[in-house]
Amino acid sequence: MMMDKAYISQIRNDFPIFKQRIRGKKFIYLDNAATTQKPQSVIDAVVSYYSEYNANVRRAIYALGERATKTYESTRVKVAQFINADDPHSIVFTRGTTEAINLVAYAWGRHNLGPGDEILITEMEHHSNIVPWQLAARDTGATLRYIPITRKGVLKLDKPEQYFTDQTKLVAINHQSNVFGTINPVEKIIAYAKHVGALVLVDGAQSVPHMSVDVGELNCDFLAFSGHKMLGPTGVGVLYGKRSLLESMDPFLGGGEMISSVTMEHATWNEVPYKFEAGTPNIAQVIGLGAALDYLTNIGIENIHRYEQELTRYTLNALVSIDEVMIYGHSPAHGAVISFNVADIHPHDLAQILDQVGIAIRAGHHCAQPSMRKLDVPATCRASFYLYNTPEEIDCLYKGIKKAIRFFK
Ligand code: PLP
Repeated sequence: MMMDKAYISQIRNDFPIFKQRIRGKKFIYLDNAATTQKPQSVIDAVVSYYSEYNANVRRAIYALGERATKTYESTRVKVAQFINADDPHSIVFTRGTTEAINLVAYAWGRHNLGPGDEILITEMEHHSNIVPWQLAARDTGATLRYIPITRKGVLKLDKPEQYFTDQTKLVAINHQSNVFGTINPVEKIIAYAKHVGALVLVDGAQSVPHMSVDVGELNCDFLAFSGHKMLGPTGVGVLYGKRSLLESMDPFLGGGEMISSVTMEHATWNEVPYKFEAGTPNIAQVIGLGAALDYLTNIGIENIHRYEQELTRYTLNALVSIDEVMIYGHSPAHGAVISFNVADIHPHDLAQILDQVGIAIRAGHHCAQPSMRKLDVPATCRASFYLYNTPEEIDCLYKGIKKAIRFFK
């Protein structure tokens, strides 16, 4: 399917937020790596749950409870299909990528790591794929190691044997950088990890919403991602794990519904994935995520990826034509995230000027301070796109940057 101008305009009509004006201007949203906007169908799915069949899941033996459980569980099947997992039981609902990674760091890490073991991550991780491993290393005596990056925002993988060793027990890698836009060669990294017998967790927060990610093909052990970055509500995310691994792991949180039986002395666990979904889950959000997956599937994730690639190229061409713009991230495999600075204008000042003309970009360290240190900058501006953004919006960004340059001269 061609995602042409008419089609994008039709897509935009599905998003009520774009009907408003911001500061009297057309609203241009370029902070999709942080969170995405929601189509009406997602909003309707959440409203419909609360207004028509609000009930707890997996415990209410009446019509509303059955409908809630059925709809909640149907999202699990949709998620499995979306990432090509052959078993819906390998899909655990979490609050988001952060919780999914913490789940592995606690439920797997605390029981399987010890002194002499190494956890391998990279210098381009989001804090949510750094700090849980720092804590796990601190608590278990394992060592945390980093694959370095170049100043171009690319992993230095020329001597893999330096990093992938017999001590490596877990490799946790960003599929797509939220700072540089770099799409990492995860297939190659998974092969290196498997060669030394290490497990692999892929942080798919920036990849799953934007490209086809097939866990069967990748053969990763875990994949984490967030619903709110793929048109779904906040408060829901996913941990995919190979079923045998999930079964071998201890629970993360204890509470209702994650047990098989409880005595005064001890408890036994429910089957996976329920063992990892203690307490009342975010039911409305999971149901909303189901609607988001329907929306994305209907358009086709490959079409979305292709369109975003065009938009990214268009933006990079526009930005490199401005002498004062410095772009960070020069990987040939580049997703829809562009970090940059403009002369010596502080990123917050640029974001504020752009906000005056209705353009929302991100300015800051993007929860990736090690990456910022590598670039020797405290912060960058970041424009990130999704299926509803247009070249005309990029033209406005270009004009807004030119205006800021004139303003600060
Ligand atoms: N990993 C990456 C690469 C991200 O970009 C983000 C969010 O920006 C996260 C993890 C954390 O996601 P969440 O805040 O939804 O848990």
